[in-house]
Formats: sequence, structure tokens, C-alpha cells
Amino acid sequence: MIRRPPKATIRDARTHNERLVLSTIYEIGPASRAHLARLTGLTRTTVSDVVGDLLKRGLAREIGLGPSRRGKAPILLEVPAGARHVIGIDLGERVFRGAVVNLNGEMIKVAEVPSGDSNGESALKRVNQLLDLLLGSTSWPVLGIGIGAPGLINTEDGTVVQAVNIDWRGVPLGAIVGARWGLPVYVINDSQVAALAAHSFGSVRRSNLVAVKVSGGIGAGLILNGSLYQGDGQGAGEIGHTIVAPGGLLCQCGRRGCLQTVASTRAVLARIGVDRGTPPPLLEEAVASFEAGDEVVVKIVLEAGRYLGAAIAGIVGTLNVHHIVLAGTMPTFGQRWLTAVRAEMSEVALPALMRDVSVELGQADDIVIIGSAALLVQRELGLNLRLRVQSGKPPRRIGAVNRQPLPVASPTSPVPEEATWP
Ligand SMILES: [Zn+2]
Repeated sequence: MIRRPPKATIRDARTHNERLVLSTIYEIGPASRAHLARLTGLTRTTVSDVVGDLLKRGLAREIGLGPSRRGKAPILLEVPAGARHVIGIDLGERVFRGAVVNLNGEMIKVAEVPSGDSNGESALKRVNQLLDLLLGSTSWPVLGIGIGAPGLINTEDGTVVQAVNIDWRGVPLGAIVGARWGLPVYVINDSQVAALAAHSFGSVRRSNLVAVKVSGGIGAGLILNGSLYQGDGQGAGEIGHTIVAPGGLLCQCGRRGCLQTVASTRAVLARIGVDRGTPPPLLEEAVASFEAGDEVVVKIVLEAGRYLGAAIAGIVGTLNVHHIVLAGTMPTFGQRWLTAVRAEMSEVALPALMRDVSVELGQADDIVIIGSAALLVQRELGLNLRLRVQSGKPPRRIGAVNRQPLPVASPTSPVPEEATWP
């Protein structure tokens, strides 16, 4: 019996051809239709058809004539950087930060909204506030929104299963944001997206890599055999709430002595404040004191590094991965902190496993923002967003951020109703 292909197959083939042509123009453009046909193996008619559609949708444009050996000079095509804008946001830091990113991987505009020690409701309000700022700042067509959020995330449906630090449990973030803006939304764990970005944008493509993001919280993203490993429940790498100092400080999760209470940026700043009998300093101040050799600060920061090192040694022992990238705000303390991390890893892990392990400080500050935007572009258009070194002028800042010192407890700071514009 001959089965007719279901209708979806024809549509799938069309989508496949479109993605193939678009990504080829993106990768090698400017390119002529004839060149595209040769590279993709599609017929000239199909390529012309698809290109016609891409031109109509603004995803490609004709930029002039190319050289010709004989006959008519071919028209060259490219994907304009501004064909679509994408929003990438990072909810894993002290401030919720996001950017409008173009198809060249450049951040055009950035905005920040203080996260405070938000409860769940106000955290959601602040996310909307950040998106209002970003989406209000671009008049280009927006492809969608990529969100890197802390905690346990179901990437299938965009639900935040549990994010202790912002007090979210079972929040259908993707659906909420998608409904508000009518745009595709992709939500992924911030450490996992940091790992994907380090994997895609790193100078060398490693098949195995672990990115550990250390900021207000701590999480690891695991790339194994070239793909993101999320675990059976998508929570692989959630090491921040593993108890490492039993009976220690109270954690936001309600238990005592989690890794986050001794090794995170938040913990370090809070402890410096307690030791000094002052409110916790800003990160920049703490880093300056650390670099100036302030004994109290040095002791606290290096101890935090050792706790982290022991935790990472566990990952190395389990997975035997050679490449560790440290991301987030804690790496701002630099080489001396890194040395403490490494020293403890060597102390704890099996020496033979540690021998070839490199631990490096992540390069890009905005790895989660760019990574989330890149994932959205990959999903919606099938393009592997290239990461361009920010050329020329820095992105325009929209919205004002008041970098308040870190509150020790969890006062509910009021959410500004009106976003401020410069
Ligand atoms: Zn905890």
C-alpha cells in the first residue's frame, strides 16, 4: 500500500528549505541565488521561491550586483542585522538585566531593573517592567524573548518549577510573558544557557564543558558530548542548594548551610557586612577592598572560593570533564579567588582526574543575555547567532538603575511603578 505523505510533511519541507536557504545566506552571505542553489542542493526554482518569501518578510535583502564571468551579473543577498530584533534577559543577578540584540549578536540597547529581594509577585512585575523598557525601545520587528532564569526550569513549557532566590514555584513564566506580548518566549536555566554560550562562542569548541555561574545563587550548566545535559528532571547542575556546611547559615530555601550561603556573591557581601558591623558593601567596593588586601575581605572571599572548589571537585569526580568556566559576578574577584577555587579542587578531587583540568574565568559579562537571545534565534529561525565583539559604540542604556547595597534580610522594597527614562 502506498501511503500519501501527510500534509504536514509538505509544510515541514518548506520550513526546512526556508531555514536552509536563510542560514546559508546568513553564514556565507552576500550570496547569489545560483550560489545558494549550488550550496544547498536545492533547485534554482525552489531557491528563487524561498528567497522571494524571505525578501517579502524582510529576512533577506538584495544589496547589489556581484562579479560575473559571463552573462548577467548576479544579484547578491544578505540577512540584514536588523531584520529582526531579539530580547535576551538574565534574571539570575542582583539586577534583572536585558538587551535588545540584533542578528549580528550585537547588544543594541541594554536595560536593568533592580530585582531587590523580590517576592514572587514583585519579581514578575519587575520582569514586565524590564520587558516594557526593552520592547518599547525598538521599532524593529521582534522575533521573540529569550529568558535565562535561576532555578529549576521546565524548558518544554517555560515553567519555572522552583526558583528559590526570587520565590517562584510553578510559575508559567513563558506563558505569562508570551500572552502579554504575543511573542514566542523561551525560558532556560541561567547556568545552562551560560554553558551553551561558552560552548558555542568559546574560542575552542569543547565537546565537554561545565560552566558554573556564581552570583546571588550558584548553578552549573553541563555540556556533555557536545550537547546540553539537563538531567532526567531538567535540574542537572543545581548545586547551589546542596548542603556543604551543616547547621550553617539559613538559606533562602529554608535549610541551613547550602553552598549558596557560603560561596555566592550574595553570601560574601553579607558576611563582609556582618564582620564590619555595616550594611553589606556593593560588589565593586568589596572587590576594591579585596584587591587592596583588606584582611577580613580576603579571608571571606578566599574561603568562599574554597567551598566552591570543593563543590566543583565533586562535578569533576563524577564527570571527568576537563574544561570548567566560571561565570556570574563572583569571578570579578579575579585570579586570586580563582586560585583558591583551583587549590581546593586539587585538594579534594582525585589528582589523576585534576591533572588536565583547566578552570577559567568566563569572558563575556552578558553571556546569559546573549545566550538566551541566541537560543531564541536558533529555535525561531534556525540560525546560529554569531557573537560579534561589540564594535564601536557601546549599547545604549535605557532605564536607570540605582545599585542599592544588598539588603541582609529580605525587606520588600517597593517596585517603582513608572520606569525611568533618561
Ligand atoms: Zn538552600
